[in-house]
Amino acid sequence: MTVSSSLPELLATAREFVDREVIPLEPAFLAGSELDPLVGEARVRAEAMGMWAPALPEEVGGAGMSLVEFAHLSEELGRTPLGHYVCNAQAPDVGNMELLLQFGTDEQQDRWLLPLVAGEIRSSFSMTEPGYAGSNPTWMSATAERDGDEYVINGDKWFTSAADGAAFTIVMAVTNPDADRYRRASQIIVPSGTPGFAVVRNTPVMGDVGSGWASHSEVSFNDCRVPVANRIGEEGAGFVLAQERLGPGRIHHTMRWIGICERAIELMCRYAVDRELAPGRPLADRQVVQHWIADSRAETNAARLMVLDTARHLEAAGNKAARVEISAIKFFVANVLQQVLDRALQVHGGLGMTDYTPLAFWYRHERAARIYDGPDEVHRNVVARAEIARHRSS
Ligand SMILES: Cc1cc2nc3c(=O)[nH]c(=O)nc-3n(C[C@H](O)[C@H](O)[C@H](O)COP(=O)(O)OP(=O)(O)OC[C@H]3O[C@@H](n4cnc5c(N)ncnc54)[C@H](O)[C@@H]3O)c2cc1C
Repeated sequence: MTVSSSLPELLATAREFVDREVIPLEPAFLAGSELDPLVGEARVRAEAMGMWAPALPEEVGGAGMSLVEFAHLSEELGRTPLGHYVCNAQAPDVGNMELLLQFGTDEQQDRWLLPLVAGEIRSSFSMTEPGYAGSNPTWMSATAERDGDEYVINGDKWFTSAADGAAFTIVMAVTNPDADRYRRASQIIVPSGTPGFAVVRNTPVMGDVGSGWASHSEVSFNDCRVPVANRIGEEGAGFVLAQERLGPGRIHHTMRWIGICERAIELMCRYAVDRELAPGRPLADRQVVQHWIADSRAETNAARLMVLDTARHLEAAGNKAARVEISAIKFFVANVLQQVLDRALQVHGGLGMTDYTPLAFWYRHERAARIYDGPDEVHRNVVARAEIARHRSS
């Protein structure tokens, strides 16, 4: 496990920074206003405090944290919807940065990775298609046909998060239709201004169409030509690269969700203490509320231990070795998140349904936690298959 001795101090600084400088920016964000210029200022301070692009090495401009360290920081940042963005650690950019760092050519790193880490540009990742089951990542219709030293890309994608305003997308498209299903697709960088590439519209999610980094777009590729040099890794390696990206990505997401649970518990307790049902009779005295708080605390603590244990295993032994645990945390923590948010919302009564707290925002947007990066059922299948296999006779 790689955890520096200065981590506790950094986490305390992060908590104070989030409380003092980021949470006050929430109301405007939750009201759907343009991003407050103060968010930009908070980003500058996050960088000065050593929390910028935490998962990336210092050589490329990141804070050089290990996976376990970033997991801890992710919990602190997750306490507000703006936390990861302020530290340039938001999905899908962080996944794209890790991908380009590990598999990008020198030229790709200079042109795309360095400005991403510097926070000068944003990016998106375009894999899911409206006409095909995204739960099966080996099955898709978008194609990238070779024509000399170019690929000609055709296809429609949706839920390309953050494509609105991004400088490029990494598209997954079939390059080798006759190959084994795990070797059919490649990942290719498509700069946003490329003729034939279009962001068609932002897809509304639970009534919220979003914008910029907080949105999910439908995008189209019509005879869109990009150089073969824009391919990441070998031809046909798209699926393998996606798996590499998703392991650490699931640690990032689940620890962010634990940060959300912590904030929800905090808000739930404060409201229960302050809200009187009758003079001198606070909501916190009701046993049902106490049990919701106790269950939320126990589940959140259990989830945290599971994720950190998985992060340590992943860091020590790699993605493949930790595959089953990664699936277990993905569905387990997503469900803890949903339960805790639901209880916190219920405790807040009518206020819970408004955007005067971040609970309703999270309730709307994080319901998708049980769907994106693989639905619950797919991850349960992985865990169940591994368990059952241990008990089959020969
Ligand atoms: C908010 C949000 C952000 C997203 N961001 C991105 C992004 O940035 N880039 C991108 O490419 N995609 C993104 N996605 C897409 C996401 O990855 C897919 O929605 C997901 O993989 C599921 O695919 P699908 O929607 O096609 O559902 P389907 O594959 O049609 O599955 C529907 C349902 O069937 C059930 N199911 C599926 N497989 C099985 C099985 N094997 N056994 C039992 N039941 C099963 C599950 O309940 C599942 O929810 C995002 C989605 C959301 C909601």
